[in-house]
Amino acid sequence: MDADPTHIEHTGAMAERDVQVNLNLRVRGMGPSSTVAINERCDELRARGKQVFKLGLGQSPFPVPEPVVEALRQNAGQKAYLPVKGLKQLREAVAHYHARNEGIDVDAEAVLIGPGSKELMFLLQLVYYGDLVIPTPAWVSYAPQADIIGRRVSWIHTDPKLDWKLTPDQLGGLCSLDPGRPRIVVLNYPSNPTGGTYTPDELDALARTAEQHRVVLLSDEIYGELHHDGAHDSIASHYPQGTIISGGLSKWCGAGGWRLGTFTFPPAMGWLRDAMAAVASETYTSTSAPIQYAAITAFEGGEEIEQYLKDVRRILKALGNWCAGRLNSVGVHTMEPLGAFYLFPDFSPLADRLEEHGIDSCTSLSADLLEEIGAAVLPGTEFGCMPDELTVRLAYVDFDGALALQAITDLGDEAMPDDAFLRSNCPSVVTAVERICEWVSDL
Ligand code: GLU
Repeated sequence: MDADPTHIEHTGAMAERDVQVNLNLRVRGMGPSSTVAINERCDELRARGKQVFKLGLGQSPFPVPEPVVEALRQNAGQKAYLPVKGLKQLREAVAHYHARNEGIDVDAEAVLIGPGSKELMFLLQLVYYGDLVIPTPAWVSYAPQADIIGRRVSWIHTDPKLDWKLTPDQLGGLCSLDPGRPRIVVLNYPSNPTGGTYTPDELDALARTAEQHRVVLLSDEIYGELHHDGAHDSIASHYPQGTIISGGLSKWCGAGGWRLGTFTFPPAMGWLRDAMAAVASETYTSTSAPIQYAAITAFEGGEEIEQYLKDVRRILKALGNWCAGRLNSVGVHTMEPLGAFYLFPDFSPLADRLEEHGIDSCTSLSADLLEEIGAAVLPGTEFGCMPDELTVRLAYVDFDGALALQAITDLGDEAMPDDAFLRSNCPSVVTAVERICEWVSDL
């Protein structure tokens, strides 16, 4: 038997099968998150020499603001485990940040710091026994987290004609089906994947319905600072007693890889915060110490960070509008983005022409875009849409944000970046969108 040259391979295959069988049933068959997977696939293709436009992962192209990087340098030596709920000064800075930016009166005690808001969302679902209500299209990981934990998911399919926004009637209709059932309703705006947002009146109307049905609202406001006009309004100011605000450094501070998220709870939900902290203490113990110290500077803000945000918003607004305009000009219906760095183009007006080319779903559409022109986008199905809806998510982030920030500084404080600015500072995004437009026109 030892002479069998295939012996080791056999053993390996058997071992792998055994492990598969022993996987938790809820996890068996599950692949990595599609945002993470598309990024790794792009890197592989690039390493093999293929030209790839990275419009898949929603990662900020901008550098972390210098004062925050400097604070991290200064605190590189911080090595102690910190309190499980987070560093006191950081929780205070987050509470002041909410008061300053959103006019919400929050105590530092209400804030929970975690290693990314994604992890905090998972902990919330783990400790809170309730259904997860997800208006679609929605970020890729809410539902898989519920599946892993075994929570029931209720989907609410929003209407593209209403810019994919959840309406109070839809929310009320679902809640009336089984009144009193515990539910967490996710609201995410500015939206990943549509780039849309809600007006204060719309938020107020949703808040009244949420209040009537006593739902826990998980308001994912991670893109709040990236409202293109700097006019984000938190629904927590309309429904303070039932809203958990989810935020963090990943998007507005260009620090996705730093993994720092925040949850801010209503005063009456301290029991939920404490239950999450108990689980956190048994799993990750505490969030990285140097990162927490640096995050104090980020949340305290200041002139330099304000200027950074103004410049980031100007670039994203100009680039998002340019991309949407180009796509609309060739018949791909694309909503004007109001925040974040995503577009959710709908190719269904071109369904007949696409079908003649063998494309009848958003998965075949995104596969073709990657294969034929190197544009990596994610299919609408990853965001809860039906395969035949022919939507994709395009993250317009494949550019050097540091260069773009330098260029906009040279442009002066008021001017909006024009076509020439975008071509020289965001060339990959511009080229990718032009290639998509040519591809569509050639169908
Ligand atoms: N939120 C980003 C996205 O939707 C990336 C991070 C993640 O999914 O974990 O692409």
